Amino acid sequence: MLPELPSQISCAGTGVLMAFLGYLTFRLFKKNKKNSAEEVASADMLDFVIVGQGLAGTLLALELEKRGRRVLIVDDGWKTAASQVAAGVLNPVTGMRIVKTLGADDLVPAAKRVYAELAERFGETFFRETPFYRFYTSEHEKSVKAKREKDPDYDGWLSPDVPAGTLCGGGLSDRLGGFFVNRAGWLDIPKLLARAREMWRSRGVFLEENFNYADVETSRGGVRWRGREVRGGIIFCEGFRVRENPWFSHLKWQPAKGEFVEIELAGTEKFQGQILKSSVAAIPLGGTRWRVGTNYDRDTLDSQPTPEVAERIRRSFCAIFAGTPDAESARIVAHRAGVRPAVQGTLPKVGAHEKFSKIFLFNGFGSKGVTWLPLYAERFAENLNKASKP
Ligand SMILES: Cc1cc2nc3c(=O)[nH]c(=O)nc-3n(C[C@H](O)[C@H](O)[C@H](O)COP(=O)(O)OP(=O)(O)OC[C@H]3O[C@@H](n4cnc5c(N)ncnc54)[C@H](O)[C@@H]3O)c2cc1C
Repeated sequence: MLPELPSQISCAGTGVLMAFLGYLTFRLFKKNKKNSAEEVASADMLDFVIVGQGLAGTLLALELEKRGRRVLIVDDGWKTAASQVAAGVLNPVTGMRIVKTLGADDLVPAAKRVYAELAERFGETFFRETPFYRFYTSEHEKSVKAKREKDPDYDGWLSPDVPAGTLCGGGLSDRLGGFFVNRAGWLDIPKLLARAREMWRSRGVFLEENFNYADVETSRGGVRWRGREVRGGIIFCEGFRVRENPWFSHLKWQPAKGEFVEIELAGTEKFQGQILKSSVAAIPLGGTRWRVGTNYDRDTLDSQPTPEVAERIRRSFCAIFAGTPDAESARIVAHRAGVRPAVQGTLPKVGAHEKFSKIFLFNGFGSKGVTWLPLYAERFAENLNKASKP
């Protein structure tokens, strides 16, 4: 089944875009210093301009380059962009109903393959497969899980039950026991983005500035940026700041602020082999350090960390280790906040503008960017490449 792409950004007129694996439709100069806009802008050939170097813009630019396309990336280094503050977890089975992410059978293997390719390319590890231990919070949840285990669609995705108080020899407050979500892991997004940015800077294809929408001239069949034709088109990957975009701000966005904290707690080293999920998720960062979060706030859409939320997360973290001496001494050592670029409905917004066929959107990956983006970027790049071949 191929669900439709969101109609608001339908690309019907262009034939571009679509596909998504049987499931969802869907250089310029050599230099080592920061490039001036004029230098990059005067490059002879430009296939695509990508606005935004979060995880979305990064993966898409890499995929287009893989296909031999010349890409210019523009980003203004927003410190609290979702990709800079995200927990980075890839968790394919989520929620109270213990449901597999739509398309997980395709998305998860693709994500692992792409992150492994990037590790090889940059000579650094970005993604770590990490078991995801989920505490049961009620008897009802146990019965939901038991039902899932009988469903062949969930074969291999969930572990048998782990008896209460037995993981790592005990010390956790999993009084009803728990289970592992298999094939989970976490991505160090800031590290990946920093490596890609260094590479693009050194090649002179990265502009560090705020994209000025007034520099774009649109017509039905083409687009110009600063007076130069951009053959393939301009692709907007601005995350939550799409709200400022004159072509796409009207779509039904449903952003949600989230916060996480980094916590140190002595005596927790032995639990570092897995992500622990109770009312919060605790991601092991090595030693006695954990990244813990997060919350969803649809009302306050700023990037301001709030002490009350941090304390609430800290207390939930302490509760995970209630059986460990000195759990209450958990100490917050870092605190970040950002806004997820989420949309109404379940699918991201990917495609061409309904009127201007060379203005594209690649956004709306909400709280699942790590899982969704690698395959979406591959498929989208494939289609953009085909559609704009000289
Ligand atoms: C607290 C929190 C926790 C999260 N945890 C997870 C998680 O565990 N797992 C998961 O999969 N996802 C998680 N997410 C979601 C994940 O962060 C997003 O899905 C993903 O990072 C979105 O990437 P993006 O590139 O679309 O947007 P962004 O990361 O917001 O990037 C947008 C980029 O565009 C640039 N930009 C915007 N406008 C302009 C302009 N006019 N000119 C120049 N540059 C511009 C910004 O500087 C920024 O670099 C979390 C998000 C938050 C906030």
